[in-house]
Amino acid sequence: METKILKVDSPSSPLLEDAAAVIRSGGLVVFPTETVYGLGADALSSQAAKKIYAAKGRPSDNPLIIHISSPDEAEAYTYTSDTYYKIAKLFMPGPITVVMTAKDTVPLETRGGLPTVAVRCPENPIANKLIALSGRPIAAPSANLSGSPSPTNVKHVIDDMMGRVDMIIDGGSSDFGLESTIVKIENDGSLVLLRPGKITREDLLAASFDVKLASAVTEGLREGETAISPGMKYKHYAPRATFVLLDGEKEKIFDFLGDKTGQNTAFFVYDEDETYFSRLLGVTLYRLGPRLDEESQAKRLFALLREADECGHSVIYAPLPRTEGIGLALYNRMIRAAAHTIIKL
Ligand code: AMP
Ligand code: MG
Repeated sequence: METKILKVDSPSSPLLEDAAAVIRSGGLVVFPTETVYGLGADALSSQAAKKIYAAKGRPSDNPLIIHISSPDEAEAYTYTSDTYYKIAKLFMPGPITVVMTAKDTVPLETRGGLPTVAVRCPENPIANKLIALSGRPIAAPSANLSGSPSPTNVKHVIDDMMGRVDMIIDGGSSDFGLESTIVKIENDGSLVLLRPGKITREDLLAASFDVKLASAVTEGLREGETAISPGMKYKHYAPRATFVLLDGEKEKIFDFLGDKTGQNTAFFVYDEDETYFSRLLGVTLYRLGPRLDEESQAKRLFALLREADECGHSVIYAPLPRTEGIGLALYNRMIRAAAHTIIKL
């Protein structure tokens, strides 16, 4: 299929009308959001949803998030509640997705056969305008091939999606760089945090929500356990290289890496430690960001995994992040990318 690439700098660009027409006719449009790039199609069309799964190579039981342009549009697709509107008032539009019981208006293909549906109202003005112009919700997973790191700029999208989609909107680099926070609203109004993101567990607790962390956020699924969020059970975000997390002080990490030189090894280093580790000749360093600036690390992580892969490293090591604040989102993506390989030093 021929893929058109449109450079869009502002939500008032007339090119967004062309993109909305592609969505209305059942086609696939990749668009920027504040989290990562999304692979969008008409959420109310089962045929369009099937095209998304095919383009990504995604298993069809891994449901899609439906994107709306204003929080009250959720009424048409889900059974909302006071808890939903409290979340909406505080955090929407923004990088949070809410899972609620679905109405029959949402095809089973879009929700991966589940009785629930995930809804998000993006803040990125290009995304928001595209949804409004389309006149329907847009189902959109991350615009990467299933299993690989999510795309945070248009080069990543082109690498994965050229020839697989009708249109790609180039809207620059993603602001945050990791996917949205996902919460499920339980019948009693409490929340289960299914995927951590920019809106943190601490943000939700500070707003007095009753929040439980799904165990699969920090651990693998246990033998025989059913995933509450189907995406939890699949390999995710993984580079082609072996990715390994190191849990220990920088001196211990230095000694450990000292044995790995000359083995085509990469290390994701905190910016302030670069000079310290540069004595390790034979290990390629990639700057992850300042140690305490997890927003910078979030913005760089997926791009670095792709870059290190392009350089053909056989093993990539990275420090294990903490699990507080935005650190939890990094931790969750990194343990999956590493298939839970953590070396305690
Ligand atoms: P992605 O589209 O790549 O950002 O992934 C979407 C994530 O949302 C996947 O991990 C899905 O499992 C999760 N998700 C979507 N819909 C639901 C739902 N109805 N219930 C639970 N998780 C969901
Ligand atoms: Mg994804």
